[in-house]
Amino acid sequence: MHDTIPNTAFPDGRKVPVLGQGTWRMGENRAKAADEIRSLQAGLDLGMTLVDTAEMYGNGGAERIVGEAVRDRRDEAFIVSKVLPSNASRSGTLAACERSLRNLGTDRIDLYLLHWRGGHPLAETVAAFEELKRAGKILAWGVSNFDVDDMKELQSVPDGGNAAANQVLYNLARRGIEYDLLPWCRDRGVPVMAYSPLDEGRLLHDTDLVHIAKAHQATPAQIALAFLKTRSGVISIPKTGSTERARENRDAIDIHLTSENLAELDRVFPPPRRKTRLEVI
Ligand code: NAP
Repeated sequence: MHDTIPNTAFPDGRKVPVLGQGTWRMGENRAKAADEIRSLQAGLDLGMTLVDTAEMYGNGGAERIVGEAVRDRRDEAFIVSKVLPSNASRSGTLAACERSLRNLGTDRIDLYLLHWRGGHPLAETVAAFEELKRAGKILAWGVSNFDVDDMKELQSVPDGGNAAANQVLYNLARRGIEYDLLPWCRDRGVPVMAYSPLDEGRLLHDTDLVHIAKAHQATPAQIALAFLKTRSGVISIPKTGSTERARENRDAIDIHLTSENLAELDRVFPPPRRKTRLEVI
């Protein structure tokens, strides 16, 4: 028997499971496409229905993989995609969204993010996001790689307070956001999407984490994901192109870390004691 994946809510009330799926580096190699599609579909079967992608990944290739994966089951999935900062002018955002919709083979993106801050004024990007929302092409919008200062600036532009999520680097080895950004977002009911929750795979070779995982009869990936599950308002989006590893990641939900376990993790991966600049990959 598996535990159900817990949900978290976006400001508009829509709920998503706190464990989703990433797609960076998918759609780059035709020989891997079938495995990538199968792995995303296995993830959907297991309840990891939020799928994160971006126009940048594989130059639209990852969006096309996602489109294939959800072709006959679009309503089950919650699709997140992102506009590149260089495209994020008012008209550029509208055009990028149309391209993403075509790549995804769908009529709507559930959550559309500005991938990181670039040269275009935030007010222009937000105006385009709001226009796309009115047209039903996106259901909500948000940002990525925004630190607290960026979030505050965003709030100062018209409709900037409508941001529904902030996607940032967050994992056991990179806990800087716990100092200020995570509480800031929580206080405003804005979920944080934790990208690279396995630190792009690097965490899995950490000797201490390997040791802790053994004691739980779990894998390092599962402990890294189980840790993120204990953080309220956080959605993690591990990427795997393997059906077995998708299952392994999903099973992290069944691991319940005690306060003693969390204290041990704090000793090995200390939480921040002061403000650090938001790390970015
Ligand atoms: P990640 O999810 O931390 O790690 C992915 C790596 O771990 C891959 O090499 C994967 O290999 C491996 N892996 C996954 N599950 C595993 C398991 N159970 N056991 C062993 N290895 C495992 O890194 P990420 O892809 O950088 O981050 C996740 C997602 O976040 C991305 O795919 C993307 O959607 C998003 N992201 C967003 C931004 C942004 O700027 N907004 C930046 C980076 C990432 P296999 O595929 O071979 O399993």
